[in-house]
Amino acid sequence: MSGFKCDCLDVMGAKLAEHNTKICVTMAFPRDGSPGYVLPKIDTEKIEKRNRKGPALAIPTFCPFCGIKAGAEPPAVAAPSFDTGAA
Ligand SMILES: [Zn+2]
Repeated sequence: MSGFKCDCLDVMGAKLAEHNTKICVTMAFPRDGSPGYVLPKIDTEKIEKRNRKGPALAIPTFCPFCGIKAGAEPPAVAAPSFDTGAA
């Protein structure tokens, strides 16, 4: 389940799957015990590589495809699009 109330992650997942591609996601498990959900992953890395502590997570608060805020109702028209890189 997506952390956003829109279908963008599912729609994009289906479209990308046709091109042997998937979106990297971050699993979130709320501390209040409510069901876990997924959010599109924002890549992060350590600045100081010798530090043993792993990089922090960057959590999106808005859907990157349609722009709704996490937990908000989706707009009437939410149409994600993507580019295969082909001309
Ligand atoms: Zn969306």
